[in-house]
Amino acid sequence: MILPIIKYPNKNLRKKSQDLSKEQILSPETQGFIVNLIETMFKEDGLGLAAVQVDKHWNMFAVATEDGPMVFINPKIVYKSWLKETDEEGCLSVPGVYGLVKRPKTVIIKALDRNGNKLSMKAKGLFARVLQHEADHTQGVLFIDKTNKITRGDDVLRELNTK
Ligand SMILES: [Zn+2]
Repeated sequence: MILPIIKYPNKNLRKKSQDLSKEQILSPETQGFIVNLIETMFKEDGLGLAAVQVDKHWNMFAVATEDGPMVFINPKIVYKSWLKETDEEGCLSVPGVYGLVKRPKTVIIKALDRNGNKLSMKAKGLFARVLQHEADHTQGVLFIDKTNKITRGDDVLRELNTK
């Protein structure tokens, strides 16, 4: 099922997400939600999609990888490299707006997978950027809070900001 994505400046995007227990993760409700979250991410051509973006305030997000979709639940970025990289980002919740964001080039993330098992992963480059962007969503943070230059959609953003 495709879930509706909430868009900036919807205030629910600013809510912090709640951690899930292993029992909650394994419940049919959560397992069904994960399938829908992934389906919605692919339908909308996103590299990642956080639960908060579909107005579900569970601490999780999905990302698209070369090996298929991955789900990170209760994610924690436990290491950020000193070396940073600037690149352009966009967001399904802020359509039409793109901006440059400086982020650590390499991160290590710890989380639970969709079966509630612990996972730890080192990521760099675009994958590291997507993980950080999605982890920010779970804390109510958007890339437009961090950008130092809007590259496209400045007019769109200005109009949204007056809403
Ligand atoms: Zn986003």
